[in-house]
Parts: sequence; C-alpha cells; structure tokens
Amino acid sequence: MSDEQFDVVIIGAGPGGYVAAIRAAQLGLKVACVEKRDTLGGTCLNVGCIPSKALLHATELLETAQHQFASFGIKTGKVSVDLPQMMQHKSDTVTGLTDGIGFLFKKNKVTSVFGTAKIDAPGQVSVTLNDGGAQVLKAKNIVIATGSEPASIPGVEIDEERIVSSTGALELSSIPKKMVMIGAGVIGLEMGSVWARLGTEVTVVEFLDRITPGMDGEISKQFQRTLKKQGMTFHLSTKVTGVEKLKTKLKVDVEPVAGGDGQSLDADVVLVAVGRRPFTDGLGLDTVGVTVDERGMIPTDAHFKTNIDGIYAIGDVITGPMLAHKAEDEGVAIAEHLAGKWSHVNYDAIPSVVYTHPEVASVGMTEELLKEAGIAYNKGKFPFTANARAKSHLDTEGFVKILASKETDRVLGVHMIGPGVGELIGEAVVAMELGASAEDIARTCHAHPTMSEAVKEAALGVDGRIIHA
Ligand code: NAD
Repeated sequence: MSDEQFDVVIIGAGPGGYVAAIRAAQLGLKVACVEKRDTLGGTCLNVGCIPSKALLHATELLETAQHQFASFGIKTGKVSVDLPQMMQHKSDTVTGLTDGIGFLFKKNKVTSVFGTAKIDAPGQVSVTLNDGGAQVLKAKNIVIATGSEPASIPGVEIDEERIVSSTGALELSSIPKKMVMIGAGVIGLEMGSVWARLGTEVTVVEFLDRITPGMDGEISKQFQRTLKKQGMTFHLSTKVTGVEKLKTKLKVDVEPVAGGDGQSLDADVVLVAVGRRPFTDGLGLDTVGVTVDERGMIPTDAHFKTNIDGIYAIGDVITGPMLAHKAEDEGVAIAEHLAGKWSHVNYDAIPSVVYTHPEVASVGMTEELLKEAGIAYNKGKFPFTANARAKSHLDTEGFVKILASKETDRVLGVHMIGPGVGELIGEAVVAMELGASAEDIARTCHAHPTMSEAVKEAALGVDGRIIHA
C-alpha cells in the first residue's frame, strides 16, 4: 500500500469527473481520478449517450433506406437488419471513445486509478483496486463526481434481461415483439425509437398527463403526435402497479392515476425509465459527515463545496439537470476554482436535446414558465415545411419557436422540433449566452440553403416579419 499526495482527487471518470481532471491538470494541479468501471467515460460513454446515439443513428438510416430511398430514386434489394453487427458498431464506438479518455489522461498527466473509492476523511481517499489490493490517495481537495443510477418503482425489479434499464435496453440480443416503456421521458422515447424502428411494438406508460415533463408544451404535443404516427402507443395518466414475470412473457399491470379499472399489457421486454437517482453508495459520506438530502443529492455552495471543507461535488449528484454537458461545464468550473481562478456555470443557458427523429432541442424558458413568472413575451415560429433544405431532404416535420422579452426583445427561450435541431440549438445557446435579442439573430446572415434559416425566420417572426411563410 502506498500513499501519494495530490492537489485533487476526483472520484468518478464520467463527463463531470474526467473533464474536471483534464482541466485541473492543464492548470498545473497534480490530479488523480478514481474510476470503479474498468473503462473511463462513465454512464455517458459506456452505457448512455454514446451507445444510444450509435443505435439511434443506425436505425434512422434503416428507416430512411426502408421508407425514403425509393422517393429519392434509389433502388435497393430488400433491406434487412444484422443486429449483431449493429451492436458491434455500438461497442466499437464506445471502445474508441473510452480509450480516447485514457489517451487524454496520459497526455495531460492525470493519474488514473481503477478501483472503488471511499473518503476516509477530508484529504484522504482509500481505493479498493479492481486488480486487487488497496491504495491510499492523499489530496488537498476531493471532488465527488459519481453520477447517477437508474431509479425503479415498487413492484418492478430490474434484472437487465427482461426488465431492463437503459443499460439492458442497449444490449438486447434479439428484437423483442412487444416492449413496454415505463416513463415517457428522454430514455423511454429514445430507446423506444430504436426498438420501434427495428420492428418492436412499443407501448409507453406515463404517470403524468403528458410526455416529456418540463419541455415546452407546444413542442411536447407535436412530439407525441409524431411518435404516435411512427407507431408508438401512449397510455398517459397511467401508473404501473407491478410487472409479473411469466414463462414466455411479462404481464404489466397498469391503472389510471385518477382511479378506476386497471388492465394488463403483454410484453417481452419492459424498460424502466422513470428517472435516475444520484449514486453515492459506499463513498463513506455518513462517516465524513457530508450532508445528503432526502433525494440523495449532495447540497453544495456556488463553488460546488459540500458542507465539509475540502470536499466538493459536481454533476448528477448535485442539483440541476442530469445531463453530461452540464456535468462537463461544472467539471471545468470546479477545476478553475480549485486552481484559484474565476469560474461560473450559466444554468439559464443549458441546452437539452432528445435524439429521436425528428430531434427535439431547447434552451431557456418555456412558454409555461414565462406565463407562470408573469413575464410578457413575443413569439416567433417557423415550420420546416417552409424551409428549402428540409424540403429537398423530404424531412419537413417540426418547427422552431423563439420566445423573446416583449419589453427588451432579449431571447428568453428557444424550442425546436425538427431535422437535426440538436445541432441548431447551439446557435440559440450562444445567442442567449451573449444576451442577444431576437433582432440580433434575425439580422445575422444565415447560409442558404440550410436548416438554420428556420432559426433566422423564427427570429424574424418575433417581430411579425417572416419572409418565407
Ligand atoms: P426522465 O426524468 O426524463 O423521465 C421519467 C419519466 O417517467 C417522467 O415523464 C415521469 O413522469 C415518468 N414516471 C415516473 N414515475 C413513473 C411511474 N411510476 N409510472 C409511469 N411513469 C413514471 O427520466 P429518464 O428518461 O429515465 O432519464 C433519466 C435521466 O437521464 C434524465 O435526467 C435525462 O435528462 C437523462 N438523459 C438525457 C438524455 C438526453 O439528454 N438526450 C438521454 C437519456 C437520458
């Protein structure tokens, strides 16, 4: 057992932890990053954002080949699915990227320790190494970046084979006939899209009376209509009371939230996607006295310090959206703070994207939030049916909506559903970060023909002067 002294020990090598480690090392700090998986990158790279995007892209291409190639004048033989190869593409993508983090750690001289960390006291972390043995790391500062794990509901036990979380849903070895998704949030709808495109009959059960809570209502309604057209069935205002495992199928018992007669849905696979909870098990927080709230989150101050000096927390274990890019920005901010620099995360300009087809993307306040806050706003909206590029791609579903202050014209929120809007939202985030007005976006030259012209037109629409619709 050897003790080594570091400026900062980061626990967890997900997007929060690995980015914090690299930035701290860039700033001249001596950094160790402890990870209990055998690969770096956390949930996002290993079992989340990245593998799901590999499957979403592959299945979107399948859809295009099956349903649109003919309209484009492309003839093929029968298009069929090679699921093992699709899964291989997913695994290769993951391996390439997780290995890439290892390369970045080496390049930046971050010490990588593979094992399970426990905080003994401020300034000391002991690690049970994956390869056997133990190591004690001394550190001026400790950063907890241990992320989150899938939540479940009573009566439903995840086995990752027939009753799966997102992790199991990325690993199915055959295409199920029927799948029930519990929860119409981001995971349910993204994974539902993957399997629906592969031929699975997808039924979504959602507790609330709408899908994707928190999303702008108008977008959410259009999104549900679109997914319904793609073949998904929705049971809203419905709760799952249990899942029974029968020999050849699963019986999902559901009943209306408002009360009344229940029913049973058949499924081969059930995906539990009812949110995630912060993961802090085994870290020794009790012993050290780090406060954890009733939801399992670690309260911090504006510089991510917990109630204990020298112990900080970032990412999914603290408040805010559980998003990789939010964790990454917090990783940079904590590293800069520990290096004695000024640091800040603007929580008003964090985008969120759902990678279905069409994609959904948003940043800033929704119409519902603006109304609730009594903020007067103007609205500009432009449909992709009137966008030349979208028309030439036969990809015209959706619209861009910009909400700007009635008083100052400052952009307060941008919400989009449409082709590739996950990329278009970047422009809106920059605009909001720089305090732009809708007029600023409207007067900015946008290349023609691009989908981004829909953003410019929506900005023109804030002032009632759309050109192309
Ligand atoms: P979520 O919070 O997005 O959605 C969970 C849904 O489950 C909600 O609509 C909720 O009302 C519903 N629900 C809760 N209990 C229920 C019950 N008993 N019966 C039926 N419905 C119930 O959670 P998620 O989809 O599991 O995703 C987890 C986290 O991962 C989220 O924070 C999400 O932002 C993040 N994530 C993000 C992306 C992305 O940004 N593209 C992708 C995947 C996951």
